[in-house]
Amino acid sequence: MLQNMKLAVLMCAQKMIADRLVTGTSGNVSCIDRDQGLLAITPSGVDYDAMQVSDISVVDLKGVHHSGGIPSTETPLHLAIYRKRGDVATIVHTHSMYATSFAVLGKPILAIHYMVAALGGNHIPVTPKYALFGTDDLAQQVIATLSTQYRGTLVRNHGVVTIGETVQETYKLAVIVEEMAELYFHASSLGTPHILSAGAMDKVRCSLKKYGQVSRTGGKTASSDIN
Ligand code: 13P
Ligand code: ZN
Repeated sequence: MLQNMKLAVLMCAQKMIADRLVTGTSGNVSCIDRDQGLLAITPSGVDYDAMQVSDISVVDLKGVHHSGGIPSTETPLHLAIYRKRGDVATIVHTHSMYATSFAVLGKPILAIHYMVAALGGNHIPVTPKYALFGTDDLAQQVIATLSTQYRGTLVRNHGVVTIGETVQETYKLAVIVEEMAELYFHASSLGTPHILSAGAMDKVRCSLKKYGQVSRTGGKTASSDIN
């Protein structure tokens, strides 16, 4: 289980740099095994291209380092989210360009497209105040913003955090945040975007529950469990 988690964290981290959601050593990824009380998290300041599975850090819920490289400076943020949100099994943090541009302005991403609903609310929120990376202050800002409803937030003058049940799903949410921000940027440069109503977004959330390889009468099909 721990080995699988470390591998999933490594693959996600390497995908995030290949897809240009981060550059250099920015961003971090983690997964938690709640039965063992352990999380696998990317090591701090290690180039993604050179990162090996043995570099992935293992820490416990008190933040005690068990193995692998020195854990991400954002370990307090990841721990705070796992403590607050029992539904979360994985966290992705990026500095993706368009989404971070909105975070710099302190502007939430409004309902300019129906896929904003995938992040749980009628907009993608932004933390209220700037806080230094790696601090408990930053962790508090993020968990206060990620109320039970949201599956992602912009982090002021910093980047993006998404949360979910699987690494694949949480990574896709980070991609969606960036896509929505890029779309908002382009649409705003052409005119004034139309913002979808709260009612329209409620309907999207209902329909998204039945989207994909999910039986229209409820429940996933056997093949939909592959990812
Ligand atoms: P780490 O390399 O320590 O994970 O830091 C990167 C980062 O994005 C800090 O917010
Ligand atoms: Zn960061």
